[in-house]
Amino acid sequence: MEGISEEKPCEENKLYEVVFCKETDSFVTATNNIQPGNVILIDNPIVLAPLPTKNDLLCVGCCKRLDETDCYCPKCGWPKCRNECQDVSTHNENECEILRLCPKKSGDSKFRYDILIILRCLLLQTSNKNKWAVLLNLLDRFNGGDRGNADYFKKVEEKKRFLEEVYLKPLRNYEAEIGKSILPQASSDIVEKVCGFLMLYVMEHSNIKLLYAKANLIEQNCVPNAIFVVDDEDDYKMTIKAVQPILKGEHITISYTDILLGTQQRKKYLKKLRNTLCRCSRCEDSTEFNSYLSAMICFGMEDEPCKGIQLSLNPTDETPVWLCNKCNIKLPNKEVTDFIRHLNKEVDKRLETKPNFEDLKDFLEKLELFLHPTHYLIIRVKYHLIQIYEISQTSRDLLKEKMKMCESLIEVFKKIDPGSTRLGLHLLTILSELYKAKTELLFQTFLPEDKDASFSLITEILQILKEANKIAEFQSQIHPQKNLLENVKNNKDMISKWLAENSFMFEID
Ligand SMILES: [Zn+2]
Ligand SMILES: [Zn+2]
Ligand SMILES: [Zn+2]
Ligand SMILES: [Zn+2]
Repeated sequence: MEGISEEKPCEENKLYEVVFCKETDSFVTATNNIQPGNVILIDNPIVLAPLPTKNDLLCVGCCKRLDETDCYCPKCGWPKCRNECQDVSTHNENECEILRLCPKKSGDSKFRYDILIILRCLLLQTSNKNKWAVLLNLLDRFNGGDRGNADYFKKVEEKKRFLEEVYLKPLRNYEAEIGKSILPQASSDIVEKVCGFLMLYVMEHSNIKLLYAKANLIEQNCVPNAIFVVDDEDDYKMTIKAVQPILKGEHITISYTDILLGTQQRKKYLKKLRNTLCRCSRCEDSTEFNSYLSAMICFGMEDEPCKGIQLSLNPTDETPVWLCNKCNIKLPNKEVTDFIRHLNKEVDKRLETKPNFEDLKDFLEKLELFLHPTHYLIIRVKYHLIQIYEISQTSRDLLKEKMKMCESLIEVFKKIDPGSTRLGLHLLTILSELYKAKTELLFQTFLPEDKDASFSLITEILQILKEANKIAEFQSQIHPQKNLLENVKNNKDMISKWLAENSFMFEID
């Protein structure tokens, strides 16, 4: 594929290269063989802005969610921590001045954070000349609208017009009035390019939208060979680390979306975030590597439910068709996605209210009438459920049920994340719950006069610890601030002590 490499002098031992492409999207390749765990690149955001969900009010300074209703910047009226906001540089004087040109009326809760991030890009020309140069360089290479469609161009146009009408025109008058230029470079052309670029190359992290100059050019893949870690405590510094061996010349990939979602949900998210369609091997496989994360139970046409499995025939199409593997009934995509959206809301609602064990189990049974036992919504509920079993008073049946649930989750996770690297933290939680259930079962069933009977259970427990240790070792390189190895060690110490007390001879490594 033809492309232009980054012109800047090569940093020493650089493992990557940004390739700008005219025909396709830009991408990043490996310039050397890379091992799992290697840091590929570190990047700092050029710009960031709050990203509210629903009707949240987020501080324009530190992006934190505001609880009180009367926290607004006294000058421009946008939401802002009352006194002690840590981040004065984000909402700088010039930004405040411009936002003030269209003051918010009290009770008006519609803050255009999507416009704010565009404005922040433009403001770099006075606040941070280096970042402005980086942004201009990116805009120069930006092949606007290659990924574009009618919908994309309409949105870019709307944003541009809003920014110009509401802020830039009044700004021109204001600048003339005070005889000073606040935003010298804000031609229609630049504004349009910034709008277009931000619709293709941003990412989201918790409640913040961020733009990274290098990292955001890395392409999307739902089975990525690298992952990113954002350090909230260090100005959102992003580290890209390999999770698979990457050969020299191969494209580096990350996933901008949650890989625990079904294909249609990931697709929708990526379309909204970066106007992109992922065509990775998982997205193109209706069974998602036999994980059946999107599969539904077929109801058929007769009085009796058919109970076959509904899967989308062509998952990456704009409107896939869903087909039952038993009765061959076809369902339109809209019907399926509307139904899943409804169930998704129900699941969110349940989990938000911190349900008790019985209620959540009832709810799971209802979901299982409609969804495949490993549908992603079922997985979410089960993942929550395994963590709320009251282990000490649990009957053996319940312990076995919990063990089964943990094991089925592990099986699915391994299908979509074969190296247990991207879902490592989740897997550690599941393994820890499985450990708790198995040790409790061991304590309940152990008979000093028949020690042999406990042998296989002990072997299984030690196997779990071994696996958890391996995952924790890798994950601690990625998340050094978490005490992952210590948690595994505590479990190991506990079982070692018990084994010694009961005169078992086991090698524990
Ligand atoms: Zn704040
Ligand atoms: Zn302000
Ligand atoms: Zn994909
Ligand atoms: Zn059917």
